[in-house]
Amino acid sequence: MLHNDNLEQWDRENFFHASTHLAEFARGNIPQRVIKTASGVHIEDRDGNRMLDAFAGLYCVNVGYGRPEIAEAIADQAKELAYYHSYVGHGTEASITLAKMVMDRAPDHMSKVYFGQSGSDANETNIKLIWYYNNILGRPKKKKIISRWRGYHGSGLMTGSLTGLDLFHKKFDLPLAQVIHTEAPFYFQRKDLGQSESEFVAHCVAELEAMIHAEGADTIAAFIGEPVLGTGGIVPPPAGYWPAIQEVLDRHDILLVADEVVTGFGRLGTMFGSDHYGMRPDLITIAKGLTSAYAPLSGSIVSDKMWAVLEKGTDENGPIGHGWTYSAHPIGAAAGVANLELIDKLGLVENAGTVGTYLNTQMRAALTDHPHVGDVRGEGMLCAVEFVADKDSRSFYDAADKIGPQIAGKLLEQSNVIARAMPQGDILGFAPPFCLTKDEADQVVTATHQAVASVL
Ligand code: PLP
Repeated sequence: MLHNDNLEQWDRENFFHASTHLAEFARGNIPQRVIKTASGVHIEDRDGNRMLDAFAGLYCVNVGYGRPEIAEAIADQAKELAYYHSYVGHGTEASITLAKMVMDRAPDHMSKVYFGQSGSDANETNIKLIWYYNNILGRPKKKKIISRWRGYHGSGLMTGSLTGLDLFHKKFDLPLAQVIHTEAPFYFQRKDLGQSESEFVAHCVAELEAMIHAEGADTIAAFIGEPVLGTGGIVPPPAGYWPAIQEVLDRHDILLVADEVVTGFGRLGTMFGSDHYGMRPDLITIAKGLTSAYAPLSGSIVSDKMWAVLEKGTDENGPIGHGWTYSAHPIGAAAGVANLELIDKLGLVENAGTVGTYLNTQMRAALTDHPHVGDVRGEGMLCAVEFVADKDSRSFYDAADKIGPQIAGKLLEQSNVIARAMPQGDILGFAPPFCLTKDEADQVVTATHQAVASVL
């Protein structure tokens, strides 16, 4: 059944693809790509084309593909206990073990982890916990959430609102009223302000302060941000950004949610991005790297400070009214345990740091001087190349030129390397599995250089 010759036809007739131009797909202008097998950093489609996946799926297959240790842990768990829920004190050996492993790795001031399925539902959980927290503290007005333009936090109703990208709002009646957006720390795109990097940090902080002043600190519950902006363009923050933001939030008693769906479990070369940037979050969102996407599982890590209030809340109101059927799913948890063990055993966090730095250095060396490359930036195993129409005036291409997608297309066509054309702007993103070798990094850089040369 799975090997049927009619797959392509069935695909067009039945399958509603995520984040896809539906009409162009129906017209046959978007290639169908049926991925069949994968190993290490390579995936293969059913026509036998082998591709180097320099975006690790959707920056999630952190340990690389085809790891038997994780596959076997999943199979063993499915045979022993495919499912039991986590309501009313129930757990499984896998979910309790994984909770212990996550908390052993989390910053010291964190208390417990709640498991969900996806990054989106983990952020939905976070916002509910924040509202619950302020209700228990008798602050019913303190509910608004500040997010950043270009932040990405999911595509649910609340999380799609937190996301600061037009595409995810347009025609969906989002963002919801409780969400407000502030300046992103995207220094390269705001060089028009004529500020030094530290002046730009001061500008972002001043914007935040002004927003808090205008709205009233007693109406603002939390600030959410990715340590490094991901889907919004792979943008490491300018030096000093997070400590300065943290100081403002602390002063106004506003909680910080570190959305570490991309950065959690090693992508920056440290276990968490919060460690890397000196953030002190009240909640940490985890997903992708928790299981390296071998099974869907996410989590909300809750601080000691919030936990004390949540416990008090249940004394006053009864059991917490929040749960998914698949919270702490044992198969996901078994995948998570095997994944975190493998990361330790193979030293993959260190590898993400060293090979990631190598990839960034080589990419910078190869492309910085190109007349249409405006910026090459990254941190750990995250790297981005941003294209400009004119370097001196730093003017951008028209969106209709589709420079990012064109270059990603060439990269695949010429060299079988997968990078991601980021959804807003002409930005090519790289987020390879942590097991990438220096030779493979060189291959990615050479291929990118050739693709850029053939388009621009
Ligand atoms: N948060 C961040 C930072 C993400 O990058 C993503 C997905 O890319 C999400 C949340 C949403 O995760 P999911 O797609 O698993 O719902």
